[in-house]
Amino acid sequence: MALMPLTSCAMKLEQLKNITDTFSNTGKMPVFFIGHGSPMNAIEDNSYTRSWHAMGKSVTEKPNAILVVSAHWLTQGSYVSTNPAPETIYDFGGFPGELYKQTYPAPGSPEYAKEVMKLIPEAKEDKEWGLDHGSWSVLKHLYPEAKIPVFQVSIDYYRPMQYHFDLAKRLKSLREKGVLIIGSGNVVHNLQMFFSRKDTTPFDWTIEFDNWVKDRIVNHDFQSLVDYEKHGSSTKLAVPTVDHYVPMIYTLGLADKNEEIKFTNEETLGSISMRAFRVG
Ligand code: ZN
Repeated sequence: MALMPLTSCAMKLEQLKNITDTFSNTGKMPVFFIGHGSPMNAIEDNSYTRSWHAMGKSVTEKPNAILVVSAHWLTQGSYVSTNPAPETIYDFGGFPGELYKQTYPAPGSPEYAKEVMKLIPEAKEDKEWGLDHGSWSVLKHLYPEAKIPVFQVSIDYYRPMQYHFDLAKRLKSLREKGVLIIGSGNVVHNLQMFFSRKDTTPFDWTIEFDNWVKDRIVNHDFQSLVDYEKHGSSTKLAVPTVDHYVPMIYTLGLADKNEEIKFTNEETLGSISMRAFRVG
């Protein structure tokens, strides 16, 4: 038998490593955070919605299910939706009629929802909740076919930020089971200030806070984002209420140590940050 030259052996080992690397990545889903902004984005073609579409396309493997943690499902205690046929919820007012004609008829995922209830035994089942606009307005662009089962976990509004960060960590194993998890909110979200201005030029504090968040993410310093109240004077204006900020904490809690994070949108308008990113 002819001996194989050492360089050739090394090359074969390298090829083998590439193949095993590919396999070891198979099944581990990325995690998204999406700044959803106005419900009108559900039916608009703009830079945000195009970037969401691209995020969907970037997931090479079809998810078995999608779990959304949305700014628009706030509860006392944590809930998991087990509804097998979640209805499209129109949880907003004063928008054009066309928006109320939209539906997102994806099936629910009672199976994966029950999996979540095993991971968070204190969570309660909700058989009624459908898909709020934090879910369906972005999913319409991510997965327009609405074929992948979708379910939601609520935000316990009475818990501190650390609780949400720790709870997210308990959901990590879902990533290995083909579940795409999406936090849907906004890093900066102050509607009162938004309507106080005639144009959408960002406030200085919008840019300051959004850049600070970006910088902490880049440095994988998520704990500072959990302790966001210790940040400077922009905090109270950027996060007047925590509802839209919490979903980002879920996304970060699901990240592995030093896992790659890519920003997919970095726009700001008025007192809203449309920042979006992908973990993994
Ligand atoms: Zn919202």
